[in-house]
Amino acid sequence: MPLLFGTATFNESEHLTIGGCDTVTLAEKYGTPLFIYDVAHIRERARGFKQTLNSLGVKNKVIYASKAFCCLAMYKLLEEEELGCDVVSAGEIYTAIKAGMSPENIEFHGNNKTKEELLYAVEQGVGTIIIDNFYEIELLSAILKEKNQKQHVLFRITPGINAETHDYILTGQVDSKFGFDVNSGQATQALERILADDHLVLKGVHCHIGSQIFSAEGFLAAVEKMLTILNEWKQAFGYSVDVLNMGGGFGVQYTEADDPLEPEAFVKAIVNSVKGQCALLDYAFPEIWLEPGRSIIAEAGTTIYTVGSEKVIPEVRHYVSVDGGMGDNIRPALYGAKYDGFLANRISNEQQSPKTIVGKYCESGDVLIKDIELPTLRPEDLFAVTSTGAYGYSMANNYNRNLKPAVVFVEDGHEKLAIRRETYEDLISLDCE
Ligand SMILES: *Cc1c(COP(=O)(O)O)cnc(C)c1O
Repeated sequence: MPLLFGTATFNESEHLTIGGCDTVTLAEKYGTPLFIYDVAHIRERARGFKQTLNSLGVKNKVIYASKAFCCLAMYKLLEEEELGCDVVSAGEIYTAIKAGMSPENIEFHGNNKTKEELLYAVEQGVGTIIIDNFYEIELLSAILKEKNQKQHVLFRITPGINAETHDYILTGQVDSKFGFDVNSGQATQALERILADDHLVLKGVHCHIGSQIFSAEGFLAAVEKMLTILNEWKQAFGYSVDVLNMGGGFGVQYTEADDPLEPEAFVKAIVNSVKGQCALLDYAFPEIWLEPGRSIIAEAGTTIYTVGSEKVIPEVRHYVSVDGGMGDNIRPALYGAKYDGFLANRISNEQQSPKTIVGKYCESGDVLIKDIELPTLRPEDLFAVTSTGAYGYSMANNYNRNLKPAVVFVEDGHEKLAIRRETYEDLISLDCE
């Protein structure tokens, strides 16, 4: 049995269904490649963070990291689930606001926000700007002074912890392009500079220790480090934070090999750790903000491809090509990401053998899944790649002038087109003759 997420199952016709919708029918209607998002699964994951924090009686914000996947329909869904969003460009701010997201619930991140972007954020009333560096302090301060406006800000600290998947390293993250370094005293310098500013209203601090993290240890180490610093600042400057933002990076399952904690377990571990540290240091318990991206959206997404050509090199490899690839999912080519996949239009009990699923792009590195056990795949078969919801469509591109796929949201037997498929006209719409 393949690894199925959320509402995914097979119906009597042996077709993969998601959200009560037949994926074969959806593929016929919208074409392939096709992204299908299981809305119930997105809601469940969002509630795993939000309701757990609420149930622990913690003042909180759950702020979805837009970069994992965003569009108007996604932002609407976030509003329904009472999540805010984090954005890293004016384009994401624009989309969120167009979708009706309250600007107050938007948090602006990035290591090189431009003057224009900061101005746009201030003018749109973006709730929180997370200051990343000294240049940004001056840029933002000047904009606010000019407009005679105040702005809620956090500032980003690199606590010197690098967590990836199973383990964390205590010093690795010092070498990062993001945030203020603690050890060299830059974070303290930033604190003093921001506190002295008439227009920057400092609400607290932020850290983000990595991505696709499976266990709580890295977060617990980060909490301890952050509170140690915060307590030093309380002693030295009499300053205590209102907000402690612990970032995102909560892991998801791509293949059988992945075994991450559930959102609830991450939340409980982090909150307990903050409570413990605060009690120990006699520090006032702050609001807890979290920024899950991947863990909200990854497993909810499935990509359906149509199978085309194959090439069998005896004793070497069996290639099967599909009609998408690195244009709709660049992660395998970019950093060797692993995925699982299976037939979506029929169940086969045939003998399985290793096949390598490749895309149609003109790059040898355009491999979606290497040597996966599969039955015979025939042209016109539909092939599902699961857990493609994060950093798939959001990193999609038009390499080889292929069209970006459509995105469909499904829930309770209903489908909703969230992003239409590109057309050839779209492709040349920016070209000048
Ligand atoms: C990317 C990012 C996130 C989300 O990371 P995920 O791994 O998708 O959860 C959250 N916060 C910041 C600052 C980020 O850069």
